[in-house]
Amino acid sequence: RQLGPEQTGLVVCHFGQQLEIEALTGEHLGERFRCYQRSNLPPLVTGDHVIWQADDENSGVVVAQLDRKSLISRPNSRGTLRPVAANIDTVVVVIAPEPEPFANLIDRYLVTIENLSLEAIILLNKADLLDHPAHTGQDSEIATLLARYESIGYQTLTTSTKTEDGVSALRETLSERTMVFVGQSGVGKSSVINALRDMENSEEAEYADVGELSVGLAKGTHTTTATRLYHMPGSGDLIDSPGIREFGLDHVEATDLIHGFREFRPYLGYCRFRDCKHVNEPGCAILNAVAEGAINAERLHSYQLILQSQGAR
Ligand code: GDP
Ligand code: ZN
Repeated sequence: RQLGPEQTGLVVCHFGQQLEIEALTGEHLGERFRCYQRSNLPPLVTGDHVIWQADDENSGVVVAQLDRKSLISRPNSRGTLRPVAANIDTVVVVIAPEPEPFANLIDRYLVTIENLSLEAIILLNKADLLDHPAHTGQDSEIATLLARYESIGYQTLTTSTKTEDGVSALRETLSERTMVFVGQSGVGKSSVINALRDMENSEEAEYADVGELSVGLAKGTHTTTATRLYHMPGSGDLIDSPGIREFGLDHVEATDLIHGFREFRPYLGYCRFRDCKHVNEPGCAILNAVAEGAINAERLHSYQLILQSQGAR
């Protein structure tokens, strides 16, 4: 087979050994090619930047992997970590009045996000429900929750896909980013993603359709695990798959766990005991900070719950 010149490309879909590459340079700019990768390369994933060569049959071969800014991994059924998405910079943690948000779940996501040095945005969707009689009284609880995260430096945003309130502000915030959406089932992740994608039209919609096609690659096997990248109207990329939506709930080591609570960090190293677990030890700098009101007690509680659930090591 005749191979074209080496050029850069973006992995927009991966499924097992099969990759779909979008040309980032050259005469095929923006076009997509079904590729395989040279066997000397490590597993490539959606979001990877690569060097590839087109052949004369609308397919091609990936010959090199470019540096990654970040990598999200998930355990497979045997518990082995497998890479699923590269070069993500932002994780949107979606919550809603219904299903009711659990601070501990949000904190679990944040621990993983912090440890990967990614940026987190907390998105309250279904804001329209806050005015509903069934939810009166919940408004202030949710406001308190959002204020807690803002006070420790996380950006929070509010949307409703029913009224479209906040959707364009969200799109603005997410432009120029490569992101994933996580959160409990039913909070409206798909609805928000659709609202973000739908607003505009033609060219981007076409991209999305090409992305859908690639699912056909794997029909009958494990279609649902294909991870795909979508260009958002305007700018920004979204990487999505059912597996990615759950990332952040995996096991973390104790040192990574404490590091995942960003407002605890200034106090680390000041506890009386070097191996302090910050549970009930005397002279614990973090417990003291909670007593003084410098750290939120719910966040400490959340940390302790996760520590406990992992069998403190
Ligand atoms: P996902 O499981 O997180 O992807 O959630 P979905 O996008 O499937 O949405 C779950 C349900 O919430 C669906 O019935 C949606 O119609 C509904 N929903 C999504 N966004 C909103 C919203 O902004 N307001 C209201 N009231 N319902 C919403
Ligand atoms: Zn301590």
